[in-house]
Amino acid sequence: MSVFLPRGDAVVTEARVMRIATGETRQITTWFVGGWFNCPWCGAANPPEAQHCDNPACWASKHATAEHVRAEQDRRAREAAEREQRLRAAEAQAAGQQRYQEQRAALWAERVATATERGACLTCLRRSRWETEPRYRRHRRTDFHTAKA
Ligand SMILES: [Zn+2]
Ligand SMILES: [Zn+2]
Repeated sequence: MSVFLPRGDAVVTEARVMRIATGETRQITTWFVGGWFNCPWCGAANPPEAQHCDNPACWASKHATAEHVRAEQDRRAREAAEREQRLRAAEAQAAGQQRYQEQRAALWAERVATATERGACLTCLRRSRWETEPRYRRHRRTDFHTAKA
């Protein structure tokens, strides 16, 4: 006989576990009035006396075989590893992109410093292939670009 301790709408009984075909167990943590509980493997509601989960797709279902559960566990582990790998790749790509942007910004700052030193035009510099062939041009008129437009 279980002893139900009311806690609001939920009740807690003695520690009980749900076993799956491989022998692994999980403790039942969610109890309801009358001793109903949520399966710790799939979350499905089960009646008080249930030893197996009512959800036929659940690993704790009486239909689940150890072989099936292990195959499923392997598949999930594989998928998790693949997700992890994709995440790492995306992070590496983002870091590379970030590094590239930073280097480009630093190089531009260098070019601007050189241009300023020489009194050269930043508009011309910007329009040139400033990464590899920066163009430092001095104009006699300060409105050289705007005057032409
Ligand atoms: Zn279940
Ligand atoms: Zn210019």
